[in-house]
Amino acid sequence: MKRKEFGQLLNLKEDYIPLRNKNRPGTPIFIQYITVHNTDNTDSGADALAHAKFVKDPGYYIYKEKKNWVSWHYTVDDKCVIKHLPINEVGWHSNREGNSKSIGIEICMHQGIDQEAANLRAARLIAALLYDLKLTLDRIVPHYKWTGKNCPSLLLDNGKPGSQWKNFISLVKQELSTIN
Ligand SMILES: [Zn+2]
Repeated sequence: MKRKEFGQLLNLKEDYIPLRNKNRPGTPIFIQYITVHNTDNTDSGADALAHAKFVKDPGYYIYKEKKNWVSWHYTVDDKCVIKHLPINEVGWHSNREGNSKSIGIEICMHQGIDQEAANLRAARLIAALLYDLKLTLDRIVPHYKWTGKNCPSLLLDNGKPGSQWKNFISLVKQELSTIN
């Protein structure tokens, strides 16, 4: 499949965080990794669209605890991908090192989501990014790598990368092999 055709599978929309927001500092990023997260928000309706509203306005209430000015590059659910930041700018989704070196991707896990479809869409997005940025599979990392957090919670085993993480990387590899 041609790269352009592959990209159309993602159903990707851009909805950028306003430049005046604190969580879009505009700091240049040197992309060496892709950091994968789960939203840990199981509320019904906590989909990609809700997260797009949230990163533009942290006052838009979707998390039980208040979260100040976080940001990342893409949110993926079972229907679409929403891009919140250009990939040449840092997001605030990890620690300082993770933010300065990686693109952040959040995979939704709300009530009612088709999780398998969301994971596949995320794998396709990551495959497209690896292809475009000429990065290798070992550059896909869990949030866990930077801070030890149990994230992406659905893709770790007992809080650490294990067989589920390996399966996810295999899925990315498989998707990447379909782009030519
Ligand atoms: Zn995370």
